[in-house]
Amino acid sequence: MTEPFLPFAKPSIDEATIAAVAEVLRSGWITSGPKVAQFEAQLSEYFGGRPVRTFNSGTGTMEIALRIAGVGAGDEVITTPISWVATANVILTVGATPVFVDIDPASRNIDLDLLEAAITPRTRAIIPVFLAGLPVDMDRLYAIAKKHQLRVIEDAAQALGSTWQGKPIGSFGDLVSFSFQANKNVTTGEGGCLVLNNAEEAALAEKYRLQGVTRSGFDGIDVDVLGGKFNMTDIAAAIGIGQFAQLQTITSARHALARHYFAAFGTEFEAQYGVQLPPADFTTTNWHLFEIVLPEHMTRSDFMAAMKEKNIGIGYHYPPIHLFSLYRRLGFREGMFPVAERVGRRIVTLPLFRTMGKQDVERVVDAVKSVLVR
Ligand SMILES: *Cc1c(COP(=O)(O)O)cnc(C)c1O
Repeated sequence: MTEPFLPFAKPSIDEATIAAVAEVLRSGWITSGPKVAQFEAQLSEYFGGRPVRTFNSGTGTMEIALRIAGVGAGDEVITTPISWVATANVILTVGATPVFVDIDPASRNIDLDLLEAAITPRTRAIIPVFLAGLPVDMDRLYAIAKKHQLRVIEDAAQALGSTWQGKPIGSFGDLVSFSFQANKNVTTGEGGCLVLNNAEEAALAEKYRLQGVTRSGFDGIDVDVLGGKFNMTDIAAAIGIGQFAQLQTITSARHALARHYFAAFGTEFEAQYGVQLPPADFTTTNWHLFEIVLPEHMTRSDFMAAMKEKNIGIGYHYPPIHLFSLYRRLGFREGMFPVAERVGRRIVTLPLFRTMGKQDVERVVDAVKSVLVR
């Protein structure tokens, strides 16, 4: 008898949130309005009063962050090859050049030991990614940025609810970008938000997200920068408000499930099966993903197919960006970032979402062991 399908991620929207969305739909105002303002105010409070603006995707949020930082043609931006391709795409979108730095094999984040060697006179910004929600060493990151006078745009798409020395990611630092895409810990369906440094940056963010419009000047409206169409709807914001109210519940449920994964795999699992588990961090990460690196004898596609036969969905986050055709055309090659290439080929994401039970974790662990046993 086959057990029901277990996806690797699944949003859970409660009935109160569904009712709030219906209320917006009936209200006569469904695009950006009072719900967006309310959601931004709640986020700002959580981030210690820093200005926050919302957008219709995490990708759009990152693009606008780069524009606010003044990054454009002729500039280099340093980032990691192990992220969703959006992280590097936005660098190209604003006309700048992505410069990749290999990852640390344990954290799977950008290797800060290698960061300074990649800085040139053209470097304008660093985009660190907090893969699976795990932050980099934030003190060290900002010390390097300060020393070389670089902007930091934190791709914290996966890190809402993560902390550094007890402070929420986003409550300190330079520009901090989050995503509310459907698989993220807190979702609006699609969406994102940017934490900014001051009122001037917030005003610029508002212009970039809506055609460069300011409500002043000639005829009560003026356009003085080239903006786009990136505003969040009140429909999405109503989902976000409902979800954000549960941030603590979501984060602690994910911590408990991650702990159960470690307990169920057992202390001998890594050595016996040649697998690498994620760092057992229960202070900084929000456990957005539970990712393991497969042993040499098992390809990702074989593993995923075998797990699918057991009705378990497996994701992978992520294949190395520099080996996509678009990036190869820019001159990137196999062998440039050996750690990212090894990890990127063999990393898989196991199911982890708030409404999963401990018995689901045990089912996944039993399946992984039976698939990987030689
Ligand atoms: C989800 C994600 C993005 C993009 O966010 P969207 O909301 O899907 O546009 C960027 N970077 C990382 C690391 C992500 O996980």
